Amino acid sequence: MTANRIPLSQLERGIPFEQRHIGPDGAAQAKMLAQVGYGSLDELTAAAVPDVIKSAEALDLPAARSEAEVLAELKSLAERNQVLGSMIGLGYYGTFTPPVILRNVMENPSWYTAYTPYQPEISQGRLEALLNFQTMVAELTGLPTSGASLLDEGTAAAEAMALSRRVGKVKNGVYVVDADALPQTIAVIETRAEPTGVEIVVADLSEGLPAEVAERGVVGVLVQYPGASGVVRDIKPVIDQAHELGAIVTVAADLLALTLLTSPGDLGADIAIGTTQRFGVPMGFGGPHAGYMAVREKFARSLPGRLVGVSVDADGNKAYRLALQTREQHIRREKATSNICTAQVLLAVMAGMYAVYHGPDGLKSIARRTHRYATLLAAGLTAGGVEVVHGAYFDTLTVRVPGKAAEAVSAAREGGVNLRLVDADHVSLACDETTTRAQLGAVWSAFGVEADIEALDAEVQDTLPDGLLREDEYLAHPVFHQYRSETAMLRYLRALADRDYALDRGMIPLGSCTMKLNATTEMEPVTWPEFGQLHPFAPAEQAQGYLTLIRELEERLAEVTGYDKVSLQPNAGSQGELAGLLAVRGYHRANGDEQRTVCLIPSSAHGTNAASAVMAGMKVVVVKTADDGEVDIEDLRAKIEQYAEQLSVLMITYPSTHGVFEEHVADICAAVHDAGGQVYVDGANLNALVGLAKPGRFGGDVSHLNLHKTFCIPHGGGGPGVGPVGVREHLAPYLPNHPLQSAAGPETGVGPISAAPWGSAGILPISWAYVRLMGGEGLKRATQVAVLSANYIAKRLEPHFPVLYNGPGGLVAHECIVDLRPLSKATGVSIDDVAKRLIDYGFHAPTMSFPVAGTFMIEPTESEDIDELDRFCDAMIAIRGEIERVATGEWAADDNPLRNAPHTAGMLGGEWEHAYSREEGVFPAGVVASDKYWPPVRRIDQAFGDRNLVCSCPPLDAYEG
Ligand SMILES: *Cc1c(COP(=O)(O)O)cnc(C)c1O
Repeated sequence: MTANRIPLSQLERGIPFEQRHIGPDGAAQAKMLAQVGYGSLDELTAAAVPDVIKSAEALDLPAARSEAEVLAELKSLAERNQVLGSMIGLGYYGTFTPPVILRNVMENPSWYTAYTPYQPEISQGRLEALLNFQTMVAELTGLPTSGASLLDEGTAAAEAMALSRRVGKVKNGVYVVDADALPQTIAVIETRAEPTGVEIVVADLSEGLPAEVAERGVVGVLVQYPGASGVVRDIKPVIDQAHELGAIVTVAADLLALTLLTSPGDLGADIAIGTTQRFGVPMGFGGPHAGYMAVREKFARSLPGRLVGVSVDADGNKAYRLALQTREQHIRREKATSNICTAQVLLAVMAGMYAVYHGPDGLKSIARRTHRYATLLAAGLTAGGVEVVHGAYFDTLTVRVPGKAAEAVSAAREGGVNLRLVDADHVSLACDETTTRAQLGAVWSAFGVEADIEALDAEVQDTLPDGLLREDEYLAHPVFHQYRSETAMLRYLRALADRDYALDRGMIPLGSCTMKLNATTEMEPVTWPEFGQLHPFAPAEQAQGYLTLIRELEERLAEVTGYDKVSLQPNAGSQGELAGLLAVRGYHRANGDEQRTVCLIPSSAHGTNAASAVMAGMKVVVVKTADDGEVDIEDLRAKIEQYAEQLSVLMITYPSTHGVFEEHVADICAAVHDAGGQVYVDGANLNALVGLAKPGRFGGDVSHLNLHKTFCIPHGGGGPGVGPVGVREHLAPYLPNHPLQSAAGPETGVGPISAAPWGSAGILPISWAYVRLMGGEGLKRATQVAVLSANYIAKRLEPHFPVLYNGPGGLVAHECIVDLRPLSKATGVSIDDVAKRLIDYGFHAPTMSFPVAGTFMIEPTESEDIDELDRFCDAMIAIRGEIERVATGEWAADDNPLRNAPHTAGMLGGEWEHAYSREEGVFPAGVVASDKYWPPVRRIDQAFGDRNLVCSCPPLDAYEG
């Protein structure tokens, strides 16, 4: 046959996306397989994965499609979403994302592919951006200490309730929630309160706290400001009254309104919470957006979530880092202030930058315009005989139209605007940054009113109450004034991104965190308006594209995991855990087993597990880890026996947190089931299982997955995430649901676990696209190459560092743990020294000291090609050589390139006073000067930062001299 004809069908296939996603090509895979000692990927995974868990059949998923085809499919889904003007409000508003922020943050891999800033020396850019966010929140709320983002407004409110219980004087009493709080906030608080035994009283607070509530003791009070109805009231009297009762007061506040209104701090609040969505973050059908919390200084040590603080580096220069980490779940476990791990960093960066770009005057002018539209809208309606219920409001009106509310809402929809139907007699309408004169016209006609906006504008006064007008100065720090031109802003964003190490520079081999490719095709649809600009409570008929995509993704994830039902609502892995444990709790209670409250957790588990169990009202009992890294079966059996009737659930991670395919998993699951317990399989390590084994089939009753690990949603520097929960049939009735969207979960569900019906819906197209691009075969191959790459690294490093824990065939799963303890003990070189030295070599360190102190957990993923894997192994081996020079005494234990790492560009100049050469410090083996990554600061003093807590922008001169 001559070669002058290649069939069209073959040419049309092009290069399969799988080959873009998977780093090592066929030749590289062969070389790696040879190193590991297997002939093919199938042989390798046949040996690595225990038979008892192997799936017999291939994944039943649609065949892989090309990037062009998948983008076309996504376009047609997008076209089935209808973007109307949104005046629904309730915490979600139209906003104009400044394009310089859209393109250079949200769509920029330097920002979205970064990891959580646990290595602060290579995260200074996003840490500064988060500090801007904290400063913005602290100053607008008038409370000095703000965290670096929470998951959304509803969960932030629930965290405030938990914080109130922790710090408040009143230990027995009710928690009072404003009846005019956002309905989804009330529901999320109720979901969270029930298992921990807190009684919620929803009360009308317009006349103060009801007397019968006051008599019962009040732990805390949450007031919405402005209210969901739009009303702006002086909440100081109710705050004072609550304080007299010893209660902790939380104000759920709208940040845009706070640019004009007296701050919660000035009104006496202890805590302020809310969302920063309308600061330039698209609605995305519900998320992701950054929730916020700010507190009085004395509660800083009780804050949930992450907190950025200021410290100094080895030269005494100012440097940012995460502060007070001992509050967090990864250290404090069941005693943590919350279970939050992944938060909403990328979105917090956007919101902070929105404030940086607009500055206080720009923000105020957006707020005034929004208010002006609301005022004129109200004036027109009133003049036309429509009753506007409240006289004082910021952006939202409630109008009374007896018996005619539905009619008005549907007429407005005809005119291209969504309003909120409150009840048969009331409609509510919210203005925002994107409101137009045309929209006002459409609304007026929907109510049968004619109005002349110019005429109204000439005569009508603003309606914010005089007594609540804000008079203090805010956002005075230079960062909120220096970047007003687009050129200046562009360069600021670039300068910050350049300080950071993200996946666009090199591999981030984080065990348990699966930092793999976030393909551009997967990312593209996220910022299309048809996905970005939908309100989460928009009518279902306007969201058909989303609803189809959501249903398909749920079904496909169910197929991948072997579960019967999947809920996409949880907006982080931690929230998926809570949802899964609440399902277990609901199931036991429905069976009359209310006493089943013990949650068994292996000592090696991720910190979120224990923290989530406590939030689900469970008692944590720790099961030992055996020397081989597996669950200690003897101890497990003993604990099962000891707690017999109280056993609720065992939480295990599979493959184990030690990166091993445990062979006993089926026995473990059976033992728990025999005792009447349920099995929770933490699915964070699903990258080792997809296409090979299904947790829902080998013994799990419930799992959460991390779409921001296995399914390609980027980490964003510490969020967003999506943590779907998958369950078997018997747990399905207890999945999350939502009060404003019946299609989001079962009627019998446990209530909402996050504020929006489908959580962070806006980023689900990413995972949908990944599955569609790879197909079942491609997904399986990705898993196989992930396993191959981990074993390749293990084999290459083994002669130099002991590799802890192996499973069947002496193989690891998708990650491996290398042990530095013997070397540290012998030489004084710490795991930290090695992590920082890797920066000099141009790498982000692996996971440090989890699950075993003094070790690295390395997860290369399938996306890194063999050159990058080798570059990493070579760096590790070179570092081993450097440690040897310390061991032999050639380099002093307290002055060597490891102890002084990382080395900055600043160290190229001036005197050189070290025992090793400047070149050895700055350009270690294999580092090319032209491609060198320069860390912006030297090693950061962690302890100093916690002792001298500064968590908003310090004045510029604070660290000079
Ligand atoms: C990442 C992770 C979690 C938590 O997920 P988040 O999205 O960060 O909340 C839980 N368990 C394990 C094993 C993990 O690696």
